[in-house]
Amino acid sequence: MSITLDQVTKQYQGNPVVNDVSLAVAEGEFFVLLGPSGSGKSTLLRAIAGLTAADHGRITLFGRDVTQVSAREREVGFVFQNYALFRHMTVGENIEFALRVRRVKPAERARRRKELLDLIGLPGMDDRLPTQLSGGQQQRVAVARALAHKPKVLLLDEPFGALDAKIREELRRTIRSVQRELGITTILVTHDQEEAFALGDRLGVMNLGRLLETGRPTELYTRPATRFVATFLGAANLLLRREARSGSDLAPARAEGETDSPLRDRRDQEVVAMLRPEEAELAPDRDALLTAFLGYGHVEELQFTGALERLRIRMGTEGAARSSDSRSNEGETSAMPPVWIDVTRTQPEQRAFPLALGQRVAVGTRRIHVLPTPLSSFTACAESRDSAAILMGNPWLVDLTIRMQTRLSAQVEPLVADDGADPVVAPAGVAVVTAGPDCPARVRRLLARGVTPVLCLPEDAAPPSRVIVHFAGQVARRSTLAVTASLLRHVPAEAVFLGILPSDSSERTRTAGLRQLLDVRSEAQAGHGLDVRTELRLGERIEELLRELEAQPGQMLILGLPEPGSLPESFEALLTQSPGWPVLLA
Ligand code: ADP
Ligand code: MG
Repeated sequence: MSITLDQVTKQYQGNPVVNDVSLAVAEGEFFVLLGPSGSGKSTLLRAIAGLTAADHGRITLFGRDVTQVSAREREVGFVFQNYALFRHMTVGENIEFALRVRRVKPAERARRRKELLDLIGLPGMDDRLPTQLSGGQQQRVAVARALAHKPKVLLLDEPFGALDAKIREELRRTIRSVQRELGITTILVTHDQEEAFALGDRLGVMNLGRLLETGRPTELYTRPATRFVATFLGAANLLLRREARSGSDLAPARAEGETDSPLRDRRDQEVVAMLRPEEAELAPDRDALLTAFLGYGHVEELQFTGALERLRIRMGTEGAARSSDSRSNEGETSAMPPVWIDVTRTQPEQRAFPLALGQRVAVGTRRIHVLPTPLSSFTACAESRDSAAILMGNPWLVDLTIRMQTRLSAQVEPLVADDGADPVVAPAGVAVVTAGPDCPARVRRLLARGVTPVLCLPEDAAPPSRVIVHFAGQVARRSTLAVTASLLRHVPAEAVFLGILPSDSSERTRTAGLRQLLDVRSEAQAGHGLDVRTELRLGERIEELLRELEAQPGQMLILGLPEPGSLPESFEALLTQSPGWPVLLA
């Protein structure tokens, strides 16, 4: 590996701007770091270059730990967004600058200068001043200057910044060919998805300081793991769908006391599915569709954009789809909120089935990708409409559902079950209940009906700045990691995974505990692309968790329950504290 980042973190004013980023870039690879403005891309790149010191973590370049090494000694070339050429120096002097600093002899400098000007396609421009060059040419000189001292790594921070479209394309080609010719390991930062696709062997998508996903462009486009990547890499319809679990929807409801079969299986699973606009099919009727039927709808918008036609279809309630971005303020009603599906059609598709505004169409799906997130949507569960409305108005919950682009709805739930018969259908997705004295009873009632995860939210809960993760027993290991990965991708908070062992544990047990924590870290990385810090504590489980949570405000807990479907009495203290903290039970 030529560039290895291990849990690199950088904070500004206590906020993690780069949050536990781990990454390995192969030798000769062109890696593109993509993300919206403010996501931490430049900070990460500067940390690799040594222009910013990381607060935590390790940076290795070609096997050498450079975390404490100065920028000059890291052997990296850096190109900044704004043309950072020295204005008073000629092109030639600019290119030779790094060599002069390194006391390279004049003859060798001149040879290198000529070589580089040829490489970037500006031969003979040695004596021009930067002001006599176009923006694109200036950036090419900046690339040549960054390469002069033969760095092992090239870092480019939005090098196309202010250039217009045609010049960007030209410069893109230059950079790509220079990179290929030299075979130099390169990281380029951009917020432009098209640019990322055009240049990257592999992409990494950043948001809120976290590296959410990495992969080849086609992989990330067709099979993203997160809503953010799905919608950032092109247009995507996110749909909530109910999927029956192994025929359990046909099984008779069990009485609450029966725990012989996994309770979770009693509930249909709600999943988040991604439908790309070009993967939707439109036809006059269901029978005319060549693909899986999604539902009927009406053409609400129609836009001709040249090669493609863009349509927005308003789905009727006959359909099976639910939009995840429309937010219902209704109570426990089963009425579907309005759903729009964005569709793009090619010219041949338009000719085969011309459409007009208002027309009724059947919508089919060529290809649907289910996102591997256990946090599909949120349902505020309370005993009355009023208290459900208060819960739904919680600013953090509202903020979270907006970030997750998902639905927040409400359901009136009796606090205690009446003799086993469930009067209402189990809430979909994450059930949200109010923390406090009644919380354990609410949680038990939901768990008994197979509902997980459950989020216990204090009334005045604010966004957490630190997330503590713990699972009590191996059963919940997988679900806890999945829930954690899904939540952390939408929360700009630090996360720490706590392992807790009894204080009288032998040396051997402690070593085994540490090894297990390392396994958890690898599992989170391999399975979810998430890097978490780990810490081992000695003591009694609940006491240790309480101590940690009480130590500072602004924390939340993700807790894997020892047995699916039940809440041990000893865990109640974690849910009933006042003022308390959010607890997400997995
Ligand atoms: P990007 O390059 O993805 O647009 P940056 O890495 O430049 O993002 O910035 C990420 C966040 O860190 C932003 O919110 C920015 O305001 C903040 N930030 C960057 N540099 C500093 C600094 N020197 N002091 C304080 N905050 C900073
Ligand atoms: Mg930047």
